[in-house]
Amino acid sequence: MSRSADPARYDLEGLRDRVLAEEGGTVDDSIPELAGADADLCAIALALPDGTVRGSTQADVPFSIQSAVKPFLFALALVDTGGEALHRIGIEPTGEAFDAIKLESGTGRPPNPMVNAGALLTAALVDGGDVEGRNERIRRGLAAFAGRELEVDEDVARSEHLLGDRNHALAHLMRAEGTLEVGADDAVAVYARACATLVDAEALAVMGATLACGGVNPVTGERVLPEESARDVVSVMATCGVYDGSGRWMRGVGIPAKSSVSGAIVLSAPRTLGAAVISPPLDERGTSVRGRIACERLSDELGLHVFG
Ligand code: GLN
Repeated sequence: MSRSADPARYDLEGLRDRVLAEEGGTVDDSIPELAGADADLCAIALALPDGTVRGSTQADVPFSIQSAVKPFLFALALVDTGGEALHRIGIEPTGEAFDAIKLESGTGRPPNPMVNAGALLTAALVDGGDVEGRNERIRRGLAAFAGRELEVDEDVARSEHLLGDRNHALAHLMRAEGTLEVGADDAVAVYARACATLVDAEALAVMGATLACGGVNPVTGERVLPEESARDVVSVMATCGVYDGSGRWMRGVGIPAKSSVSGAIVLSAPRTLGAAVISPPLDERGTSVRGRIACERLSDELGLHVFG
């Protein structure tokens, strides 16, 4: 068996250089703010259980978290509903795109919390009462995962709320099925705002590390969610986090992860580390092309494949 590199000394800058040489993919154009992203933004960060956070060049450049927020919305919904969220949402992979207009047959529940239907529901299940209250609960919750305050890009939030037709369709469908109890437009507004949260690679790596460390933020020492809930979230990341590319991801990278249209990927390697990569050009499944390559190399060189 080959000896793995030490995450505390791993050459992140070298990995960034190798990954930047890779071409391919297209930047998401679902909203103008994402279409205008710098295709050559590229950063990698690691957060270790001892609280060490390491970032490459550009690891402090902000980007909207987009779907990489979904594991954390699921976590907050689990905490706020006392686990009831597990019964309101399925946990099976769909084999379909993130925004497929489809609910679980027979139950009308969203198929899992990592696709848009599920995330619209988790964002509606958090405490807060109304839109403002839920926004505030999510703001505080995400800050606890990151170990610092996070801003929201108001333009991104507005565009996603206005232009997210498929999300509006999903919210209405869940209303019709009786699975969404808040107003459809309110559900989209809260979810869109959560997706518009600004992080950088270092903050996202700490968020991933908090899940990897059983719910305790390794930087602040705060317990953000119960260990059992952290395990639930990471399990669903492993099976559903990369949508219809989850099987290929598990085989090739072997680390529970969540992809997103901004080109961010958050990784939670249980008991070992959290990591994040940002690079906007995406493949046909909405996964960052350079991000995937970076994760494959990280997994290989640090020996992180959970079945390795
Ligand atoms: N906010 C985006 C949407 O709802 C997030 C999708 C994603 O990152 N895959 O369409």
